[in-house]
Amino acid sequence: MKQFDVLILGAGASGLMCAAQLAAHGGLHVGIIEGNDQPARKLRISGGGKCNLTNTEVDASHYLGDAAFVQRVLDAFSRDDLLEFVRQGGIKPVIRKERYYFCPESSEQIITLLRRLCGTAEMLLGHRCLHVSHDAGQFIVTTDRGTFASNKLVVASGAQSYQSIGASTVGLEIAKSLHHPFKLFHPVLVGLTLQSEQFWMKELSGVSMPVCIRVGEKSLCEDLLFAHKGISGPAVLSASLYWHKGEIEIDFLPQARVERLCARSSKQISTLIPLPKRFLKAFLSAIGLDDKPCSALTPDEQSKLERLHAYRFAPAGNFGFTKAEACRGGVAVEAVDPCSMQSRSIDGLYWIGEVLDVTGELGGYNFQWAFSSAVVCARNLLRKA
Ligand SMILES: Cc1cc2nc3c(=O)[nH]c(=O)nc-3n(C[C@H](O)[C@H](O)[C@H](O)COP(=O)(O)OP(=O)(O)OC[C@H]3O[C@@H](n4cnc5c(N)ncnc54)[C@H](O)[C@@H]3O)c2cc1C
Repeated sequence: MKQFDVLILGAGASGLMCAAQLAAHGGLHVGIIEGNDQPARKLRISGGGKCNLTNTEVDASHYLGDAAFVQRVLDAFSRDDLLEFVRQGGIKPVIRKERYYFCPESSEQIITLLRRLCGTAEMLLGHRCLHVSHDAGQFIVTTDRGTFASNKLVVASGAQSYQSIGASTVGLEIAKSLHHPFKLFHPVLVGLTLQSEQFWMKELSGVSMPVCIRVGEKSLCEDLLFAHKGISGPAVLSASLYWHKGEIEIDFLPQARVERLCARSSKQISTLIPLPKRFLKAFLSAIGLDDKPCSALTPDEQSKLERLHAYRFAPAGNFGFTKAEACRGGVAVEAVDPCSMQSRSIDGLYWIGEVLDVTGELGGYNFQWAFSSAVVCARNLLRKA
């Protein structure tokens, strides 16, 4: 059985970053077990192929998970640290919409950088992990192409969405077998499906507009895209992170107030309200209001029109794991030390990235989390070495 100092399970964003940090300081025999024939398949397709690395505003308020735990990890390897890391590697990230940092050309740039920095780490590609056991201080990792042993094991196996490109629940199976608490994965950063009362939105497939969506205490302002299956786009994807069941509220006109626009105006509603005509027609019909001059609206009709700012409904569900950009759930952070990412109960066992019960909103937050947690873990491994 081949023996390593450190085995990393998963050559995705967090696994590669961890290996790269370890290689930079040398000395450890590191193996990376990856089920796919190539590393980082999710990273490759991320951000429309240009990988949204991080965000101008990074703090725990953009994550679902234990805020103190998340902030501690983000502080240890911040957005600025990540930007410095990629710049030193020759990548100059570009900012889109004044918030999102992307690779300038393609996600391939960050993958190439991480692979190069992995140096002599042994990449065991096409090795699907089936099982992990822990015995006499050793981790035994059984794959479909052989068994490997190590003193330290870093679980960087991600979450369950996009199984078509290698995602699995192996992290939770390992947690279960090693008696670590966890929550089942649930698809998030995903479009929402509609109940029949909202089917009018389906007619708008392809229309996109800026909105604010309120879910519980959260308000997410970004674009909404009407889709054939329901509603999608950045605002909906981020809202899906916080939506469990029950109602959400959409402000379809966050940039203006109906009351002000309508005051003393004799123009038709559809002329006056600065929203796509197709949307207004469908919306007015859904709320049972004719397109007429604002001055002709009764107080009751006026308040109906105000629903543009607070359209409440309960989505039916979501588009599922095949479309979700992330998952909530994962290994419970109470069982993990945020200063090292090491398990509190099993010495030498580490958890990083999306396998943990920490999930960010849309906008680069999940890569920032994957990279920050990987660096914290690698630093601890290096200190111990
Ligand atoms: C379409 C899409 C676009 C996205 N875009 C962005 C974006 O622009 N910005 C952002 O911040 N986040 C984005 N995300 C989310 C982001 O990709 C993940 O949060 C991030 O990749 C998690 O990193 P990770 O290292 O934890 O897991 P992953 O990157 O998923 O890596 C886990 C690795 O483990 C391997 N693995 C799993 N099971 C096994 C097994 N049994 N045996 C061996 N290997 C196994 C997988 O093949 C994979 O390579 C996107 C996700 C998707 C699906």
